[in-house]
Amino acid sequence: MSTDCIFCKIVAGQIPANKVYEDDLVLAFHDIQPQAPVHVLVIPKKHLASVNDLHVNDSAVLSHIFTAVQQVAQSTGIAESGYRTVANTGKDAGQVVHHLHFHVMGGKSLGHLG
Ligand code: 5GP
Ligand code: ZN
Repeated sequence: MSTDCIFCKIVAGQIPANKVYEDDLVLAFHDIQPQAPVHVLVIPKKHLASVNDLHVNDSAVLSHIFTAVQQVAQSTGIAESGYRTVANTGKDAGQVVHHLHFHVMGGKSLGHLG
């Protein structure tokens, strides 16, 4: 746990969050400032600052993250209509919270990327 990290505090139960999925390695909760009708964040329970900090040994964390993404998509009703999964890394991507998180957004047409 990083003591000054807001997402570590959510994992520790020190800050409330509207949880939608939890297992031993990951947690998913609604974004406080949703950018789409469904906007959920999926995070590892252990503190990793960003994608840059992922290690080959973190394969279990990553597979749990994408299991959580699937569960969130199912339970929020966007699995079939579609959704976007995004991890911002660093300054140019506008990463604000330096605890790895995957945005899961859907419930409307998001426009095409790429
Ligand atoms: P980033 O720009 O770092 O990829 O996104 C951080 C996200 O975390 C933002 O969408 C922001 O609304 C969300 N966020 C920041 N603080 C909190 C919080 O205390 N609770 C929740 N649920 N979301 C937060
Ligand atoms: Zn953290």
